[in-house]
Order: sequence, then structure tokens, then C-alpha cells
Amino acid sequence: MMNLDELKINLKTFLDEDELKFNEPMKNHTSFKVGGPCDIMVIPKSKDNLIKSLELIKKYNVPYFIMGKGSNLIVKDGGFRGVILKLTGLDYILVRENKIIAGGGASLSNTAREALLNSLKGMEFASGIPGTVGGAVAMNAGAYGGEIKDIIEWAECVDENLNLIKLTREELNLSYRHSRVQDENLVVVEACFNLEKGNYDEIRGCMEELNRRRLEKQPLNYPSAGSTFKRPPGYFAGKLIEDAGLKGYRFGGAMVSEKHAGFVINYDNATAKDVLEVIKHVQKTVYEKFGVTLETEVKIIGED
Ligand SMILES: Cc1cc2nc3c(=O)[nH]c(=O)nc-3n(C[C@H](O)[C@H](O)[C@H](O)COP(=O)(O)OP(=O)(O)OC[C@H]3O[C@@H](n4cnc5c(N)ncnc54)[C@H](O)[C@@H]3O)c2cc1C
Repeated sequence: MMNLDELKINLKTFLDEDELKFNEPMKNHTSFKVGGPCDIMVIPKSKDNLIKSLELIKKYNVPYFIMGKGSNLIVKDGGFRGVILKLTGLDYILVRENKIIAGGGASLSNTAREALLNSLKGMEFASGIPGTVGGAVAMNAGAYGGEIKDIIEWAECVDENLNLIKLTREELNLSYRHSRVQDENLVVVEACFNLEKGNYDEIRGCMEELNRRRLEKQPLNYPSAGSTFKRPPGYFAGKLIEDAGLKGYRFGGAMVSEKHAGFVINYDNATAKDVLEVIKHVQKTVYEKFGVTLETEVKIIGED
């Protein structure tokens, strides 16, 4: 039987005040700035506290969801019944010769910056992706011809039985915006990236150039979750949406970006419902016009 009240009492016995929130509005934790409250949010500052929290969550049979920075996430307006485990407290970044070991909740762009500061090459593609290391491994995040799969050596994860397991690059089954982490509901607590010694100025130049391109092409001045849809085999989602005449399509406060049709944006206090209506309309129209199914890249959780 699910027992939220007992879970809350037990979590309070070992978590610090800033590791535990109740009825927390998820719009404060998603880059889309949408989403109703979750019953409980745990932001553990150590692996121990993460595992102890998971033990209790399982004991009291409460649903849970793992998140990083919420940069690929829509939480519906009714919020999430259960526990959101937000990993951003595990945010250390260590450099060991040509390797970087980072906590699952470390910012990916800070990790890329650490690579730059140590003249390590390979993370340039990641410097403008606004998520965490764990979220990037789960999603096999990528951009401008690079992806996590190219640089990861291993990830330490907590499995469904609460064992800590270390998975190699091969064992992580990384493919386009997909990994074993998603299939098996693993929690990424740490990852190791294998980089190469490079030239500081060249790495910096490359990062600046990629971020300049992002700024030029993407509507970064509005809340969004980046590309809303996955790239369908043989097509580009943005091009299909543009060709379907959907640039600027609006519902409530959500809109298909005029600047980049692959982005749905929150242009004026959108609710999650507004965003989801735009997504549905885009999927329906693109299917009717071109017979192509657009799958969301963005994860959608919670209740209406
Ligand atoms: C402006 C903008 C630009 C973007 N550009 C890109 C881009 O170029 N390329 C790209 O790939 N993505 C891009 N994204 C999407 C997003 O940043 C990535 O998908 C990122 O990897 C998500 O990380 P997160 O920590 O925010 O994950 P969240 O959004 O919090 O979660 C996403 C998924 O990952 C899972 N997850 C998160 N953390 C963990 C963990 N520690 N262990 C297990 N599972 C976990 C969640 O359960 C969920 O399924 C962009 C987003 C924005 C807003």
C-alpha cells in the first residue's frame, strides 16, 4: 500500500531541509516552465541519501521519477503523484588525466567547461546542452555530429534492486536519444568520459562557434525543451513542420517557434496543456500531409 505520510516522516529523519520539498511546483524545475506540483521532491546530496530514499520509496510503494535539470521534460498541470528524485545535488566534477568523472547531477555544460579548462578535447558538442550528466547519458544527448556515446567510458547506476552497477559504453546500449538507462529505469549516479589531450584555443574556438550557431538558429530567449520531436528516419522534424505551414502555430501560451520549427516554445505563460495541444496538432498535421509519425523526444509525465 502506498503511504505518502509515513514516507514523508521517514525521509525527514535523514535528509537535510534543502534535500526535501513537499508540494513543489514542477514549473520551477522544468526548462519549459510548466507543470503542477509533485507530492514530494528529494534532491539528495550523496549517493547514500539517494539509495536510502529509494529504499523507503520502494518500501512504501510510492511511484517515483528520476530527473536532472528538467530540460527535456513536460510535467502535466495536475502535477506528479509520488516522488520526484532530482539528481542535481550530485554535481561534483573530477579531472583525472584525460578522463572526467562527474556526478549524475553535474551540469553537462559545466563538465564541458572543465574539459576546456584542462585542454581536453571531445566534449565540445556538449557545451551548449542544458541538462545534467545523468540526463545526457539516459538520452544519449548529442549535437553537431557528437554524442555521449562517442566519449563515455562507463556509468555507475543504481538498478531496480538498488544495487550499484558499473556499465561500460557497450553495456549502456546507447543509440539515437535512447539508452539502457531508460529501458531498465536505472539511475545514473556517476559517469566517466574519456577525452583526448587537445589545444585550449582550438577547443574554445569550437565551443564558441557551436554556441554561436545555437544562438543564431534556436529560440533560446523562450522557455522550451529544445527539439520537441525526434528526427524521423530520412527526414528532419523541423523541416516537415515548417513545410506543413505550422511555424507560428499557437494554442494558448504555447507556439511552434517562428525561428526554428522543431522547437515548441512557451511564449506567454503556457500551461502544460497548451504545450501538449500544440504537440498533438503538429503530430496530426504532419502525419496527414506527409504520412510521417513524429515521436516526441521530450518526456511527458504526471496527470492532467
Ligand atoms: C534550449 C535547449 C537545447 C537543447 N539542445 C539539445 C541538444 O542539442 N541535444 C540534445 O540531445 N538535447 C538537447 N536538449 C534537451 C536536453 O537538454 C537533453 O535531453 C538533456 O540531456 C536532458 O538532461 P536533463 O538533466 O535536463 O534531463 P531531464 O529533462 O531531467 O530528464 C530527461 C530524461 O532523462 C532521465 N534522467 C535524467 N537524469 C537521470 C539520471 N541521473 N539517471 C537516469 N535517468 C535520468 C529522466 O528520467 C528523463 O527520462 C536541449 C534542451 C533545451 C531546453
